[in-house]
Amino acid sequence: MEIRGNELLGLIEAVNVKEDGMLRPRPAFSEYERIAHDTLCRPFADLDVTICRDPVGNTVIRRAGRNKTARAVAVLSHLDTVYTPGEYDGTVGCCAAAHIITRLCEENITLTRPVEAHFMAAEESSRWGVGCVGSRLRLSLLNPQAVLDLRDADGVGMREAMRACGLAPEALGSFTPEPPEFAIELHPEQGPVLEHQGLPVGFVTAIAAPARLRVAFIGETNHSGACPMHLRKDALPASAELILRVEQLARESEDTYAVATVGYCHVEPNYTNAIPGLVELIVDVRGVDLQHRDAMLAEIKASAHQIAERRALGCTIKVLQQDRPELLSEELLELFEHNARKRKLGHTRLVSGAAHDVLHFSKAMCPVSAKPATQAGLIFIASRGGKSHCPDEFSEPEHIIAGAQIALDTVLTLAER
Ligand SMILES: [Zn+2]
Repeated sequence: MEIRGNELLGLIEAVNVKEDGMLRPRPAFSEYERIAHDTLCRPFADLDVTICRDPVGNTVIRRAGRNKTARAVAVLSHLDTVYTPGEYDGTVGCCAAAHIITRLCEENITLTRPVEAHFMAAEESSRWGVGCVGSRLRLSLLNPQAVLDLRDADGVGMREAMRACGLAPEALGSFTPEPPEFAIELHPEQGPVLEHQGLPVGFVTAIAAPARLRVAFIGETNHSGACPMHLRKDALPASAELILRVEQLARESEDTYAVATVGYCHVEPNYTNAIPGLVELIVDVRGVDLQHRDAMLAEIKASAHQIAERRALGCTIKVLQQDRPELLSEELLELFEHNARKRKLGHTRLVSGAAHDVLHFSKAMCPVSAKPATQAGLIFIASRGGKSHCPDEFSEPEHIIAGAQIALDTVLTLAER
């Protein structure tokens, strides 16, 4: 069965609403994120599928299988975006997933296992400082109390944002969906490796999971002219020291995939003529070696306290997220490679530096056997210039179609197992 390239590209265009030539952002738990979910569900109104919207905003479109007790094969990604989005991150995977279900309906094919398209909610961390909220809440891998009271930069709480979208976070307690047997995510690489090697697709062996710290340095706001240097408690130079230390630790790590970033910095009062009395930073640390990653985290915490002590400042540190790096399914990797060879598509294996929803599916445990419930696989599509989370993000249409075709071929095999 073939992917219909033009239909798939048309879906991507339909989801990507533009205003004044610019893509309209779809922040996590916003009205525009919901509209994208509705856009992808609408064509299924008259088709033989069931559509389920769960209490935290994930959508599952399910084409039933012949075996009523078999667990599903799922294709998934997310529909929310960062505030300065490109047209591909998350969107291509969800559109491919929807298109695969459409193709099964059009060809009137019922497989042994059910096949599902999952559109995950709130994957991007740009609004709330935590990522993969929809998938982790669905899979009971995140304590709702740890996130529902978070506030975005405008002071809006996650719980109220969810309710305003018609979601029901309080219904989570009684919600226990069955995890799929297999989960496949299709996603742009967001890095330069595939383009550099001239390859359309790559298959991910491991995901370097993120850990995030919110560090606050607390000093004293005062007049920038009247307060002499030796009497100041300036929180910003302390932050600058920590930022440089974070960079140095990642550069010197033994894990070649280790990276660390301070991408968020909040300064109070943020005036030209006032000494900063408070600075909040979010430190994002990733690697595929858990021991090295956590050692780096411990070093950063110790450095923050030392810097604060030396400068007579207060310092608080909160761990926002600390995921385990995960290996993905070898069986799925081999199946992807087999299907790529059959289609004569160039491919390679690679590591993902960014976290993805499918990572959490690979971590969900079966309550009966206490073994991983889901075999997870991640297909990357080449990204031009490795760019992502910006309007310049671009993947070649034929590469998107190639990735979707491998996902479809793999679904057809897995759903008969
Ligand atoms: Zn994404």
